[in-house]
Amino acid sequence: MTTTNPNLKKLFVSDTFADMIKNKLMKKMEAHQASNPQKELYIMAWGDTTQPLAPKVVDALVDAATKLGDRSTYTGYGEFDGNIKLREAICNNYYKPRGIDLKPEEIFVSDGAQSGTFGLQDLFGLDNVIALQDPIYPPYLEANLLAGRSNIIYLECNDHNNFVPDIPTSKVDIIYLCFPNNPTGGVATKEQLKAFVDYARSHKSVIIFDAVYSAFITDPNIPKSIYEIEGATECAIEVGSFSKTAGFSGLRLGWSVVPCALTLESTVAGELNEMFRIGQSIRFWGASNLAQQGGIAALSEQCQQECQEIVNYYLENARILKEGLEAFGLTCFGGTNNPYIWVKGAEGMSSWDVFNQLLFKAGIVGVPGSLFGPSGEGFLRLSTLCSRENIEKAIDFAAVVGNRE
Ligand code: PLP
Repeated sequence: MTTTNPNLKKLFVSDTFADMIKNKLMKKMEAHQASNPQKELYIMAWGDTTQPLAPKVVDALVDAATKLGDRSTYTGYGEFDGNIKLREAICNNYYKPRGIDLKPEEIFVSDGAQSGTFGLQDLFGLDNVIALQDPIYPPYLEANLLAGRSNIIYLECNDHNNFVPDIPTSKVDIIYLCFPNNPTGGVATKEQLKAFVDYARSHKSVIIFDAVYSAFITDPNIPKSIYEIEGATECAIEVGSFSKTAGFSGLRLGWSVVPCALTLESTVAGELNEMFRIGQSIRFWGASNLAQQGGIAALSEQCQQECQEIVNYYLENARILKEGLEAFGLTCFGGTNNPYIWVKGAEGMSSWDVFNQLLFKAGIVGVPGSLFGPSGEGFLRLSTLCSRENIEKAIDFAAVVGNRE
């Protein structure tokens, strides 16, 4: 008898994040729209980018596509760990200006942080104790459940700890950290990250650090990479992406850093890096050569400026929305150094109450915080990766409704 993967089957019958979005959130939104066809909806639910690519990235893509259409410049498969020019650009133009010294062989290009983090699953045994921030970007939990890991503990993030958890009180093997954080909008200081690095080094644990939103950090005192913390290359893997920093969410490009200095009790220096290389060579034939040319362009000095202007546009969205909602009487977190606003409902309100309140009163659609974990209960996540028009119209409408009450 052919059997199915029992871990996937378990996830299939439980409520995954994607299922909850599709079967509950979308249905509520559509029902509201059907009974209020004259009312506009301001959708701030999706963490997806909306603004066009930087002109220099577009030029590089057109050039790369033209070369693919010419026999003399056509290229097929590339290196499975990524175009060397892109890996060099990640080292020299992304990490080096932050005082971080990495070698191209420590960078593994992926088609986005989603598959980048998923690929890391191959590195670790199923008996490891995993610590996840709560609330958490759901695929981290679901990827571990799918792999068959069940030793999971949660590190609570709330408004009392500014959405940065305390270090674990017991021994854990793998710690997932995401800063700037999706969904809470939280950021971690150097001291807070140092506490995690110190913990990981002394317990021989591994940190998996998601730096997908690094470009949103404008405060020079907030680290953009875990490797800004001394000793982090001995204990941390970092996942990066061009999705939010350069608008590649559809084009697809990211990377994972597995430093040669990273060691476990059971491995010697360089072994994990080599193991990941072998895993990647089995699972992945390389990111799109077109996307990689776009990534090389995005990391050029001139283009980094163009990309940052797009990020600044979203940051201004976040500023306008947060100020507007606060004027409307709502308690909001995040929205600075981060495109997400984490709205706290009034005492006793559930996440779905907050969702309904903003939907029914102002036509604003967010994602209930409870879908990101138990500590998200009572909150709603709003993404400001949408258009300015959406933000301004939503605020006008929210203000009208607010004044009427
Ligand atoms: N990590 C976080 C925290 C995210 O919010 C997202 C996407 O929204 C990803 C990873 C996936 O990014 P990518 O588009 O690079 O796969």
